[in-house]
Amino acid sequence: MARIIRAVMEEDFDEPVDPRDIPREFAFQTVHGRALCRGCRKCKKSWSTYLAWLTLDLRGQRIAKSWQQKCQSCQTPNQLWFPPEELERMVAVAIERMWKLQDGTYVSGRGQNQDRPAPHLQSLCERCEYGRRKCWLGRGGGQ
Ligand SMILES: [Zn+2]
Ligand SMILES: [Zn+2]
Repeated sequence: MARIIRAVMEEDFDEPVDPRDIPREFAFQTVHGRALCRGCRKCKKSWSTYLAWLTLDLRGQRIAKSWQQKCQSCQTPNQLWFPPEELERMVAVAIERMWKLQDGTYVSGRGQNQDRPAPHLQSLCERCEYGRRKCWLGRGGGQ
């Protein structure tokens, strides 16, 4: 996964992104995307979700945290797998947000669709703190 982060920084923008230029305060960005559990580590059930989370460390060019989801059948928390092209898209989103935070033009787009149906069960999502909040209504940006 680190390889994908490096590749996006080097190739996806007009100018390569030098991680040393990224201010520490904006280095960690939490972004969401589509992911799969390719087999629960306990009961082997698999599932897909269009709302899963990664916290990226853009300076370190690594995934700082991969937010887990619990299996609906056996409640075991599992790491999710992000397809490479989805991970690429998420890294690009994180970099663009980091630039906007840096120049003060970042506007959170979330929190505006409060009426849309829940993307997943809050009780199964680590980012929802397993039922204590709705991760899709978060404030966006940072961690
Ligand atoms: Zn399971
Ligand atoms: Zn959630």
